[in-house]
Amino acid sequence: MSQFEQCLNQFDKTCEIINKSEELTDVNYKETEILKHPQKILEVAVPVKMDNGDLKVFTGYRVQYSNVRGPFKGGIRFHPDVNLDEVKSLAFWMTIKCAAVDIPFGGGKGGITINPKELSQTELEKLTRSYVRSISQSIGPDKDIPAPDVYTNPQIMAWFMDEFSRIKGKNVPGVVTGKPISIGGSLGRDTATAQGGFYTLEETLRKININKENITIAVQGFGNAGYNFAKIAHNSGYKVVAVSDSKGGIYNEQGLDIEEVIVHKNKTKSVIDLPGAKNITNEEVLELSVTVLVPAALENVITEKNANNIKAKVILEIANGPIALNASETLAKKNILIIPDVLANAGGVIVSYFEWVQNIRHYYWEAEKVQIRLKEKITQATNLIWETKEKYNVDMRGAAYIIAVGRLREALRVRGI
Ligand code: NAD
Repeated sequence: MSQFEQCLNQFDKTCEIINKSEELTDVNYKETEILKHPQKILEVAVPVKMDNGDLKVFTGYRVQYSNVRGPFKGGIRFHPDVNLDEVKSLAFWMTIKCAAVDIPFGGGKGGITINPKELSQTELEKLTRSYVRSISQSIGPDKDIPAPDVYTNPQIMAWFMDEFSRIKGKNVPGVVTGKPISIGGSLGRDTATAQGGFYTLEETLRKININKENITIAVQGFGNAGYNFAKIAHNSGYKVVAVSDSKGGIYNEQGLDIEEVIVHKNKTKSVIDLPGAKNITNEEVLELSVTVLVPAALENVITEKNANNIKAKVILEIANGPIALNASETLAKKNILIIPDVLANAGGVIVSYFEWVQNIRHYYWEAEKVQIRLKEKITQATNLIWETKEKYNVDMRGAAYIIAVGRLREALRVRGI
């Protein structure tokens, strides 16, 4: 089953639950059929003149999944594995996520099939600008607002905003979020995904009465989301025993000093070989006996092959789609509580929404205000998802989907198809 077919399978399951419940079936299910199809798919050529004078043409995508609740919204990924099926899935999840946490955006996603680590800074800038030119007619603050994702960062968002502004002949900061503060980024956006994940984790742990003292955490992925999460958890007194990046993982049962790991990674480009910690593989990180496992890298890292070996009590899905559909049943049988991606990593898009609001109003908020509003929004979403889970006897993902599909259906109903 392709990734996107797995998404639709999850969606169908939700619709079945909705159809069985009299209270939820106020709208004909057929109307939601529209949500099984992306509204628009762009596949574009991204030509770049390389430093050695060669011309290379890369393939870029932008999937505009749904704008029934607001402009399309979703990140841009630069990665060698980017393909249309993946981008469609990520765009679908953005649609569910924005509806589940109730922000006035639809869903979208984009990417280029490329290994950015093989490009110079000049080539990376040219690639970004070329991609913007290819999709410029379809994006904008009222249409479609990209953001960072895997292997894209604030600098890339700055080039993105600059190129779009040149095309329009005026400054358009609201075309993209996750920008540097100096050109209209929001305070707190860099840590928002991790911070939101941390707030929702604490709220959920309170509900299942797990004592903070005894908690151990393993984090797979040490990029924007994973590294910030590890840092926030460590600074809040939790014991982070393992972290990893694309080169491998490290483990110390006494807990890692995350500040030390950051210094080491900045120096050596990887977390591995940290003095005082044991090197382990990425697979071993996932299978550690910890309280909370945080996959924060890529999709499908937990599948039917390793699901039986997972020993964590709680999985906080900071990455999008880290658990394959065929692994979910095994994890459920093992009573592992999953805080789903559409909630666990929603802090990023929530603060992106705040950034967009600030750009439109040209009025910028203090860091504290961003934190307070993020905490309020994600806590409300966590509590509603928990209540829905209890009410309909589903898992947290099922509950988030019930809420999201309900909101999307209502928007479709009142707008008319
Ligand atoms: P990033 O590029 O900053 O970091 C990715 C990290 O994953 C790096 O540390 C990299 O070394 C590691 N990695 C790559 N391949 C790996 C592998 N095979 N095994 C283990 N680690 C590997 O990306 P990010 O922004 O931190 O995104 C990570 C995940 O979080 C993605 O699924 C992304 O969609 C999701 N996410 C990010 C944001 C955000 O605001 N950045 C928001 C929502 C969701």
